[in-house]
Amino acid sequence: MICELCKEKEANKKNTHYLTDSIIRTCLNLDGVNERETGFYFDVSNNTPFVDFNFQRGTSIPKLEESLGREVTEEEIEKAKKIPFSVDHVFCSQCEDIFTSIETPFIKTILPQFRQNDLTGTNRIIVTQNKTVKLFFYLQIWRTAICEEVYDLTEQTMESLRLTILNSNTIENYDIPNLPLHITYLETVGDEKAYTNNFVGCTSDRNPNIIFMNDFVIQLFENNNEINTLEFYGLNQSNDLEHYINVDNEKVTFKVLPNQKRLEIVGRINREEKVEKSISSFIGTFSKQWFLIFGGFPHQNLIQEYLQFISAGEFDILKYTQETLMERTTEFIDSKVK
Ligand SMILES: [Zn+2]
Repeated sequence: MICELCKEKEANKKNTHYLTDSIIRTCLNLDGVNERETGFYFDVSNNTPFVDFNFQRGTSIPKLEESLGREVTEEEIEKAKKIPFSVDHVFCSQCEDIFTSIETPFIKTILPQFRQNDLTGTNRIIVTQNKTVKLFFYLQIWRTAICEEVYDLTEQTMESLRLTILNSNTIENYDIPNLPLHITYLETVGDEKAYTNNFVGCTSDRNPNIIFMNDFVIQLFENNNEINTLEFYGLNQSNDLEHYINVDNEKVTFKVLPNQKRLEIVGRINREEKVEKSISSFIGTFSKQWFLIFGGFPHQNLIQEYLQFISAGEFDILKYTQETLMERTTEFIDSKVK
């Protein structure tokens, strides 16, 4: 395999993070501590509009099941054996050094302005170190597009980002590509544990694809015509998107969402995710029971009728314990037999 960045050397590097580890680490860990591989996270990088659940090696299954309120699947356990957001044999060691040279200045000089500042009442942060910031976020975007099948950019954009990163040492600030870039900072108040509410991953089949990397959310548009406001669990609710799109190389403007708003967004993602998971698991339970009795799977219309029956006309499907669900399911099947 040839390295994706230089396109010359052997891709000899193992365990390269394609989202910068020191940004996402606090989010991935169960208690927010700076140890790797003991946390779990939600992944928004699947092909459905819904968030998929993942967890990392080292998280105890009982603790996880307790947090989730359900059993984990074999598939999830398999997934957990991989180190998330890292790849083997995609890049070479020299290019890994380039990545580090882009990441380090951002972490040292820019990140403290966000994580170590009281942001009460702040709705934007303007950073004048354009090159440091743009290179850092372009690096996240480009590596995600290389490593995540669902995150798709045109060849032209990819090549322009590749050359920018490869030549990052010598490139002049004014030569950095001006792709419309929107970055939201989710103010995260509290101790390290507060970060574990955040998300890591990217969405798919959306314009733009959104990358969640803990307290930073990246939205990239490939040109001005593509700029549009995507409603995503309240992330882009207001009509101010264009005010925060960066289109020049003078400075970078970050939109800051207050802690309360962050909690609303993650709450909505969790809730809507959990509802979806519940529904599909309820359908599974119902179908199995139906199959046992009738020797065939229920028709789609019947499934819809069943869902209406158990949700009693309202979308409050989370109230069920396993027991009451089984009772209601039996009740529904009984009503069909009679
Ligand atoms: Zn290389």
